[in-house]
Amino acid sequence: MNTSKVKKPLSIKLHIFISMLGLSLGLIVILWLAQSFFLNSIYSRIKENDIKHASHSISYNINNEELDSFVEQMAVEYELCVRIFEFDSDKIIEKEAEGAHFFNDCVICNLSNADSLLNSWYDTTKNAGGYYTETVDRADFRDFIYVGDEESNLSGICLIATCLVEGENGNMFLVVLNTPLHPLNSTRKTLDIVLGILTLVAVGISLVVSYLLSKMISSPLEKMDKKAKALAESSYQIRFDEKGPKEVQDLARTLNQTTEELASVENLRKELIANISHDLRTPLTMISGYSEVMRDIPGENTPENMQVIIDETARLSSLVNDLLNVSKLQSGTQVMNVSKMSLTKCIIDTVKRYDTLVNHKGYKINLVYDNEVFIEADETRLLQVIYNLINNAINYTGSDQTVTVKQEVTDDVVRVSIIDSGEGISEEDLPLIWDRYYKVDKTHNRAVVGTGIGLSIVKNILLLHGSRFGVSSELGQGSTFWFEFKICKE
Ligand code: ADP
Repeated sequence: MNTSKVKKPLSIKLHIFISMLGLSLGLIVILWLAQSFFLNSIYSRIKENDIKHASHSISYNINNEELDSFVEQMAVEYELCVRIFEFDSDKIIEKEAEGAHFFNDCVICNLSNADSLLNSWYDTTKNAGGYYTETVDRADFRDFIYVGDEESNLSGICLIATCLVEGENGNMFLVVLNTPLHPLNSTRKTLDIVLGILTLVAVGISLVVSYLLSKMISSPLEKMDKKAKALAESSYQIRFDEKGPKEVQDLARTLNQTTEELASVENLRKELIANISHDLRTPLTMISGYSEVMRDIPGENTPENMQVIIDETARLSSLVNDLLNVSKLQSGTQVMNVSKMSLTKCIIDTVKRYDTLVNHKGYKINLVYDNEVFIEADETRLLQVIYNLINNAINYTGSDQTVTVKQEVTDDVVRVSIIDSGEGISEEDLPLIWDRYYKVDKTHNRAVVGTGIGLSIVKNILLLHGSRFGVSSELGQGSTFWFEFKICKE
C-alpha cells in the first residue's frame, strides 16, 4: 500500500500572503541588521564630518566678536563640546567665555593640569597642517581629568578634533572639539521604536496587499473553475469572462475557443450518428427484406435478387471502410507506400469503373489529357482520391449529367481537375467541406447517400503527399475540385 501522503497544494491567497509577509519581514530583518552592524560606523563617519565642519567654521570666526554665541550655536547644532586655548609666550590661557559644553561625560570639559596634553596636541596639530582628529578612549585621559568620585564616567570612545589658528594679536589659538562616537542611547531607542512600528506596518500592509492581490487573481480563476466543471459535464453554451489580468484573459479566450470547438465537434458527432444510422439502415433493410422474400416466397431466389443483396453488402462494407480509412489517416497510423506511377493510367482506370453508369444511366465523363504523366505517389491512396472526387462530381452534377476530368501540365507540375455542372457550393461552406463528417445538405433527404467523409479522406491523403489542392465553385454553375503533383522526370 502506498503510504506516502499527497501534499495538499496551497491556495494562491496563501502563496501571495506568505510571499508578501516574507518580503516585508526580510526587509525589516535587513534594516535591523544594518542598524546593529552599521549604525556605529555610519554614525562615526557623520560625526567626523560634523566635527571637521564645526572646527573649520570656529577657526574662521576666531577673531569674531560674536565668537561666544557662534561656538555655542555650533556645539548645539553638531552635538559637541568646544574649548579654545590661546598660546601666549609659553602660557596657555583658555578663552573661557567661548567654551561650550554639550554633553556631560566629555573629556575636554574636565581637563585639569593638562598643559602637557595641550602642548602635545598643539605640536601634533601643527605637524598635521593645522587640523587633527583622533579617536580616543576616555580612560586614556585619567591623568588629565578631574572626575571627582565618579570614576565610571571614564569609559567609552570619543572623537577629539584639534584645529590651530592664528589670532589678530599674533598668538596661536588651539580649538579643541569633542563628541561621543556612539549614538546616544536616546537615538538608539528612537530607532528601535521606529523599526518596531515599521514591522507592524509592514505586516499590516502585506496582509491588506496580499488579500487584494489574491482576490484580483484568484476570484476570476475560481469562477473559471466552476464553469470548466460545467463544461466537463457537456454544457457547451458556457462563456468564460474575458476579464482580469492579461494571463487570465488569455486563458478565458483559449477556453472559449475550446468550448466552441467542442460544441462543433459535438454537433458533428450528433449529425454523424444520425447520418450513419440512416446510411446503415437503408442497405440493412434491403438485405433483410430481400433475404426474407427469397426464403419465404418460392421462385424469388433469383440471381437479380441475390445481386441486390450483394450490392447492398458492398455498400455497407465501403461505408465501414471509409470510416476506418479516415480514422487511420488522421491518427497517423497509415503507412505510405510511395513509388513512381502513371497518374494518367490511374485516372483512365478510375473513369473506366463508371462504364456501367455511362452506358446505362446516361452519365457522360469527358477525359481530357495530352501525354502520359508520371509522379511519385502511393498508387492505392491516389486512386482513392480520384475515385472520391469523381464519385462526388457524379453524385452532385447537374441535369446534363456531365463530368469532366482534366489533366493539365504546366512546367514540371501536373494539375488534375474534376469539374461538374451541379448546384455548386456556397462560399461559407467551401472551407468546411474538407472537414470530417461535414455535409452541406444536413437534412439528408436527397437521393445522394453520403457520410461527409470522402473529402476528409481526400484532404488527408493529399496532405500526406505534400500536394497542393483546392476547390472553386459557383452556386448554380458547378464545382471544380483540383490537386497538383510534381512531375517525375524520366
Ligand atoms: P459526402 O459523402 O457527403 O459526399 P464528402 O466529404 O465527399 O461527403 O463531401 C462533403 C460535402 O461536400 C458533401 O456533403 C457535399 O455537400 C459537398 N460536396 C462535395 N463534392 C461536391 C460537388 N462536386 N458539388 C457540390 N457539393 C459537393
